[in-house]
Amino acid sequence: MTKAIRVHIPGGPDSMLWEDVPTPEPGPGEALVRHAAVGLNYIDVYFRTGLYKAPSLPMTIGMEGAGTVLAIGSGVTDVAVGDRVAYAGALGAYATERVLGADKLVKIPEGVDFTTAAAMMLQGMTAQYLLRRTYQVKAGDPIVVHAAAGGVGLILCQWAKHIGATVIGVVSTAEKAALAKAHGAAHAVVGYGDLVAAVKRITGGAMVPVVYDSIGKDTFNTSMDCLAPLGLMCCYGAASGPIPPIDISILGAKGSLFLTRPSLATYTVKRSDLVATAGELFDVVKSGAVKINVNQTFALKDAAAAHIALESRKTTGSTVLIP
Ligand code: NDP
Repeated sequence: MTKAIRVHIPGGPDSMLWEDVPTPEPGPGEALVRHAAVGLNYIDVYFRTGLYKAPSLPMTIGMEGAGTVLAIGSGVTDVAVGDRVAYAGALGAYATERVLGADKLVKIPEGVDFTTAAAMMLQGMTAQYLLRRTYQVKAGDPIVVHAAAGGVGLILCQWAKHIGATVIGVVSTAEKAALAKAHGAAHAVVGYGDLVAAVKRITGGAMVPVVYDSIGKDTFNTSMDCLAPLGLMCCYGAASGPIPPIDISILGAKGSLFLTRPSLATYTVKRSDLVATAGELFDVVKSGAVKINVNQTFALKDAAAAHIALESRKTTGSTVLIP
């Protein structure tokens, strides 16, 4: 037997139960991994509450982990028993041991520990595709980054600064503003009330070519008003709730804007894209250009406390659950 967090009925943090489950066996193309660390991500909240539909119930939530390969099924060539591996984007991570498609796994390079690997795969690969593929940020670009002191946020700030961009971070408190600035944000705006005016001032009225908005409902309109003509509204999350349906003529009225709702799954569905994305992430982390801040750790069995902290905006940087 092994242990896992299971949700029988989607709902609040107390819907997550720490239960005995049979140790799974890897089938063809699969690997059994013993987790050393599991990453906490906002998408775990969306699955727990039912905003994202469970494939079946009971469900073990969690998309990201790092650990050691214990066994492999037939036909697996990407990893071997004993490899140190990490992954993002495979539901079922809140478990001591789990089976997943071996093609989702990447080997953890030397010098990167399990906790750091578990913290960075999902948030760091997201930062990679957002900055390098959804929009190709260039040196000198001013960009707006919401939740700049959060998990994805602190990585975006550091990586964008490394590229040479001017990050205008948006946060909810003065402490978070200081943290975002210490991680590469040139400016940190507290709250959304003055954001448009601040962006106007900082850019001399030109506004920004891209807004990375992970907040959703509460910030959509404000973010649109921060964009320069032909700018890209990148809605990659909905921490405040989903954006209601919009009339697309607003894109024309505000300057022939582009709108996207990207997802890491699409950007890493091909094994070659996954390996390249993870490889670039490992490179910036190993070079020291991007530091992964694991600012909170919880025992995996205490996942409810971790969710409460994340949802009440008490966390900064990344959070890891230890089995
Ligand atoms: P964060 O660490 O960024 O935590 C969420 C932050 O959102 C909070 O700390 C808070 O920062 C801000 N926030 C604003 N309004 C609310 C609200 N009403 N309730 C809660 N938080 C709020 O989480 P992650 O780094 O894990 O994820 C960041 C976002 O990125 C999420 O929206 C997630 O869904 C998205 N994401 C999307 C991916 C994709 O491929 N599309 C992949 C990975 C993440 P503050 O207090 O400063 O406002």
